[in-house]
Amino acid sequence: MHSGDDGLRSGHPDLLAGVPDAVYHLDREGRVTYVNAAAQNLLERRADELMGQHALDAFPESRGTIAETHFRAALADGKPRQFAYLHEPQDRWYEIRAFPHRDGLAVFLRDIDAWFRAEQAREAELRELTAVLAALPSSTVLLEEDGRILVANRAWVADGELLRSSGIEPGGVGDDYLDCMSRGLRTPDHAAISALIHRLQAEAPDDPPGSLDHQYSTQLGSFAAWFHLQAARVPGSRRVVVIHTDVTERVRGEQALAWRAGHDELTGLPNRGTLLDMTADALASGAPDAPGTALLVLDLDGFKTVNDSLGHQIGDRLLRQVGERLTEQVRPGDAVGRLGADQFMILARNCDQAEAAALAFRLQATFTLPFTATGITVPLSASIGVAVSRSDVRDPHQLLSDADAAMFAAKGSGRDRVHLFSPGLREAARWRLEVATRLRGDAIDELVVHYQPVVRLDTGEVEGVEALVRWQHPERGLLPPDAFLSVAEETGQVIPITRWLLRETTRRAAQWAAEGLPLRMSVNVSARHFAAETLVRDVRVALRDSGLPPDQLVLELTETSVAEDPTRAEDQLTVLRSFGVRVAIDDFGTGWSSLAQLFSLPIGTLKIDRSLLVAAERAVAGETGAVLRAIVELTRTLGIRSVAEGIETPEHLRMVRAAGCDLAQGWLFGQAMPAEEIPGWIRAVQAAGGDLCALVTAGCPVPQAG
Ligand code: C2E
Ligand code: CA
Ligand code: CA
Repeated sequence: MHSGDDGLRSGHPDLLAGVPDAVYHLDREGRVTYVNAAAQNLLERRADELMGQHALDAFPESRGTIAETHFRAALADGKPRQFAYLHEPQDRWYEIRAFPHRDGLAVFLRDIDAWFRAEQAREAELRELTAVLAALPSSTVLLEEDGRILVANRAWVADGELLRSSGIEPGGVGDDYLDCMSRGLRTPDHAAISALIHRLQAEAPDDPPGSLDHQYSTQLGSFAAWFHLQAARVPGSRRVVVIHTDVTERVRGEQALAWRAGHDELTGLPNRGTLLDMTADALASGAPDAPGTALLVLDLDGFKTVNDSLGHQIGDRLLRQVGERLTEQVRPGDAVGRLGADQFMILARNCDQAEAAALAFRLQATFTLPFTATGITVPLSASIGVAVSRSDVRDPHQLLSDADAAMFAAKGSGRDRVHLFSPGLREAARWRLEVATRLRGDAIDELVVHYQPVVRLDTGEVEGVEALVRWQHPERGLLPPDAFLSVAEETGQVIPITRWLLRETTRRAAQWAAEGLPLRMSVNVSARHFAAETLVRDVRVALRDSGLPPDQLVLELTETSVAEDPTRAEDQLTVLRSFGVRVAIDDFGTGWSSLAQLFSLPIGTLKIDRSLLVAAERAVAGETGAVLRAIVELTRTLGIRSVAEGIETPEHLRMVRAAGCDLAQGWLFGQAMPAEEIPGWIRAVQAAGGDLCALVTAGCPVPQAG
């Protein structure tokens, strides 16, 4: 190596001799004019081998390389150059920085081989990762250790466009990921995601990499989108991959399911569970002295008949219309729901008893206009029960069962009524529940049958008896059928009860006949049993087992039960008649069936309800008496026998005889009595001449039951 003073042509002292960087200098023709110690080491040549040499001669392998190109260009335009250069004989990478000046070119040389190769490997890896991420359908980013986005895939860019269109500036490579995510995310979601990313970054690079996830929603334009974010640390580094999968459709599906779980499919109204939740909220939010929360239960009258006669499709349409009409009547904060079948429930907040009643009457009034479905006009009415929360009712279920009890009371007092809850009704509801459970158990063993005489009006003889069921309740004593039969009807228990009754009464009648007392046995059959279509079989079994001649059995059916489905009624009645069993229409005059339809059925007996008698009595020889006579005359021409019910006074007896009735029953002749008393009672009547009509008109004492 030359001494310092000839190191540079300029003759300046060699300031660069000791610097760790390799430095050399070329003149404008490319000859080496200076080379420092580090450069000699790096280039593995001594200074005397290089000085004055043309660089391309000293290093022929550099001819035609980028080094030559860059040097020439730098000398030509006077601008410095910096580039990586592979020195092939050594197979090493150098960084070359060339600074041109008036006399030539100062060249700084640095061995960057290790760094450069690592960097290249890293770039290759990134290219590979980018390719992998690009293939992912979900929007995905790779985060550098400092949280910046290193790679973003195509889906991320596409989602960014969507964001931009809804006014949110999307982030890209080089941006801070969490900064980008803060735009358009709710604060709690952003906090959760930040925590999750920081947790992954805090892991030691060589630990098994963790992965975390979070679901969030964001508003994209006018619609909400849901994303499932999954973040995982890249093994062996602190980089994190974050995948954002659009789960909007799945969430929408789940939401739809949840909606369906809380709503009634047919009407789209909230269902029982949802309305109970809403009621619970209303009850909880009301101040102690604020007006209460009202629940109304609305039950359509006779809707089963509508469904049966017009079909379920029309029934469904009508139910939807009812839902709509009811919804129109309530205030914005209130709610209408469907409890099921033909029952609706209305929640009214901040409502006292008077306001709740007013609402009930308003709802009732919406039924004055008929409903129409596929051109058919259907009049509907509803029974409404109202319950308003008091300080002692905080439980929505209790309030609902109170409203339900009130609705039952409304039904019980006739259709199209509104009834307000009173604590007595809770007792009634409790009773209904007890009846329902006990009748399903062994209460059937506690049932007893009492028999009421049926008397011929021409001879005054006892022709038969009507079986009337009672419940010998262990605590409450002997209960009349009104106390439990309606519940038995609702629960379907009335069918096993009647089956039992048919066996019991036919056996009893056969036994009396064997003792020389042939009495025709009348048994009441519920509409429910009629609809279930097991009646024919149950009757046949009872007759076979008892041996009672079929014409000694009369089945009593109410006119409404027959009117519900006349075709089905006719079929069953025809079969029963073909056995020889007689059929009676009970409670005639309380329903509103068409006479023509009724008399087209194969019936043998018409039982005229007590109410017609009472009306006739009040009208005294007026219109209604004439009605009674007209009905009896009609039955006579049709060959139907008539029975007058509820004869309590000699005047009643006179009226029904005048009208021409065939038979009669009532307290004037005898109340219903236990089976054991019947033979003794009849024998006493026979002993007194056997003509009950004569006996009672003469004011003679008639043996009393019990
Ligand atoms: P129903 O079939 O019209 O029975 C006649 C009802 O009138 C009986 O009431 C009877 O005790 C009562 N009664 C009899 N004579 C007079 C009278 O002179 N004046 C007045 N005011 N009432 C009189 P009960 O036994 O309470 O039965 C009530 C209803 O319960 C019956 O009305 C019937 O619809 C039903 N029922 C009774 N037993 C059975 C049964 O075994 N099966 C079914 N399905 N229903 C029954
Ligand atoms: Ca009856
Ligand atoms: Ca009756």
